[in-house]
Amino acid sequence: MRFDIITLFPEMFAAAARFGVTGRMFQDGRARAVFWNPRDFATDRHRTVDDRPFGGGSGMVMKPEPLAAAIRAAKAEAEKASGSEKKTPVIFLSPAGAKLDDARARRLSGLPGMILLCGRYRGVDARILEGRGRLVDDEISAGDYVLSGGELAAMVLMDATLRHMAGALGNPESRDEESFSAELGGLLDAPCYTRPEVFEGVGVPKVLLSGDHAAIAEWRRTEAVRRTGEKRPDLLEKRGGGK
Ligand code: SAH
Repeated sequence: MRFDIITLFPEMFAAAARFGVTGRMFQDGRARAVFWNPRDFATDRHRTVDDRPFGGGSGMVMKPEPLAAAIRAAKAEAEKASGSEKKTPVIFLSPAGAKLDDARARRLSGLPGMILLCGRYRGVDARILEGRGRLVDDEISAGDYVLSGGELAAMVLMDATLRHMAGALGNPESRDEESFSAELGGLLDAPCYTRPEVFEGVGVPKVLLSGDHAAIAEWRRTEAVRRTGEKRPDLLEKRGGGK
């Protein structure tokens, strides 16, 4: 999976590319990140990427020309590299987008790559998102709050997507049993325990020590429903009242 990332702060992505499950994928080449800094596409002497908002108000706005040039350059190179007929989508990380969920991450994991546009300051000039050229295909939000920039949201999207790629995890089965997965019927995962058997006076559910795989699977299913009802009743309602 190839990520073309348009950002003023490429160094931030070391957090995704160096550690843990996603870090391994970048290190062994299953994932790749290519950075496009709008500053490199600014044509004036000062390499200006932002300007004051028309109509006044606080904060600076990212200028459209360097962003458009960066998006077009990334698109050309990403599509050449993918060698696939599939179009590489340009995704703008934005609080106005649809909230990221597991189903979306799973769908994106089937693509050869994507272009992620990270805003900063007060946001990007709106003409990047509208107009005839249609530079952006989709907007995705990390949640109903405002971040200082799109980079953290892009890393959340990358991480959730990469986990869905085949073989991303040491044990591919554990991915299937994770919260929100189709295998769990969109529910939360059951609680998990490890040694010691008693921790500060609290024991482990006996069935987990029984070695009875069918009983354990049944316990996990029941616990997934119980825990979802307790913590996320909305998920039970979404799947039609639960079982
Ligand atoms: N003025 C905007 C927020 C700009 S924050 C507003 O009030 O809606 C600067 C940039 O951070 C945005 O352009 C976007 O790329 C990113 N960003 C902020 N919150 C985000 C979120 N919840 N999800 C994804 N990206 C976000």
